[in-house]
Amino acid sequence: MTRKPLRARATLYLTVALLVLVALRYTPELPDNPAGSVLQQGEALPAATAALADSTPPAPESRIEKLNRGETLIGLFKRVGLSDQAASDIVRAASAKALDARYLKAGMPVEFTADTAGSEPTQLVFHLGIDRLLRMRKTADGWTGTEERLPWTTDTVAVGGTIHANLYQAMDSSAATFFPGHAKDELAWALADIFEYRVDMSRDLQDGDRFRALVERQVGPGGVTRVGKVLAADFTLSGSDLSAVLFDSRSASPQYYDASGKSLRAQFLRVPLEFRRISSSFGTRYHPILKRWKTHEGTDYAANAGTPVRAVGDAVVVRAGWAGGYGNLIELRHPNGYRTRYGHLRAFAKGIHPGAHVNISQTIGYVGTTGLSTGPHLHFEVIVNGHQRDSRVALKNISGTPIASGERAAFEARRELLLGSLNQQSGVVRLALR
Ligand SMILES: [Zn+2]
Repeated sequence: MTRKPLRARATLYLTVALLVLVALRYTPELPDNPAGSVLQQGEALPAATAALADSTPPAPESRIEKLNRGETLIGLFKRVGLSDQAASDIVRAASAKALDARYLKAGMPVEFTADTAGSEPTQLVFHLGIDRLLRMRKTADGWTGTEERLPWTTDTVAVGGTIHANLYQAMDSSAATFFPGHAKDELAWALADIFEYRVDMSRDLQDGDRFRALVERQVGPGGVTRVGKVLAADFTLSGSDLSAVLFDSRSASPQYYDASGKSLRAQFLRVPLEFRRISSSFGTRYHPILKRWKTHEGTDYAANAGTPVRAVGDAVVVRAGWAGGYGNLIELRHPNGYRTRYGHLRAFAKGIHPGAHVNISQTIGYVGTTGLSTGPHLHFEVIVNGHQRDSRVALKNISGTPIASGERAAFEARRELLLGSLNQQSGVVRLALR
């Protein structure tokens, strides 16, 4: 091939472009033609260019259509121009494989491939999930299908950062490279869950606190990232260290222990709402109606109305009803002289009435804005031996069960391995043993 001077080539391109423009401008509308229109709608993958059809051999042509909300598969197939017979054949063959036509998600992509532009598709790919495909082919004997699983890879990553505003911000500025998009929020939630007996992630974190985490990362087709197991984590809160090490003890299911070998599980949860449900924008007092409420001993958590409220410990319900400024109030009596109160509820959970027994974490009611409240939030109080106490103090440092003495050596080896890896630079970590 000879090289044409740049100017000549530019002129050629300009001419072609002008001709295309003219052709587009004066092309008459296509007549109604269902077969032809099959490949005109939607998102065509390799663009079919009518002008080239005469000079090049027919090429396969693909397009992707998404299942609309409320649309059936037959509806989708008809929309793309398949015959009734083909549509029902495909649905029957696909249902015999991996497709459950009753549980299809709106937005599910289906890829149609025709052997030649304009002909009826002979291959379909249902994107059942991010890692699941069902590939259907038209054969002489009818439609056949194969399900394909796309692989995920798992590795272990150390991440860490400094908290300036809140845990979400800290993740965003330190872990987003390894856990992009939604995954970094999932990691924040996972850490909050691990420390839910020890730390109120919505209240206890201060500017300058630090976190580190050793996390299994699962990367799927197309780069979608998920948070796997958190193997170990460490928070430095106002200078004091709190570690969590996942250990698979012989006597219990895998759980988290602090560095001294005490279970992180304890008698009380620190917060009656899951961290993921607490509005991070919360910052102002919610009781401008009565000034004296501004100095109350309770703690307010902003959350959407209807958010489940959980018992912070095993208890007996002593009160579940209307209580003036508290609105709908639940009061629980725990062992050792502890009581907890949950105010402004929209509703009580089923079975919550005086005398009922509840377990730690059990849903007892739902966030609302009843009583003296200007927006949906939970008012939470801790009462110890008849006196209101700050929950940050009253529910803190209640120690968990220590690891069995026969397993201490194994735990300490695991702890050294994980906490050692945790303190590496952020990045992919190779663990020396499983
Ligand atoms: Zn309050």
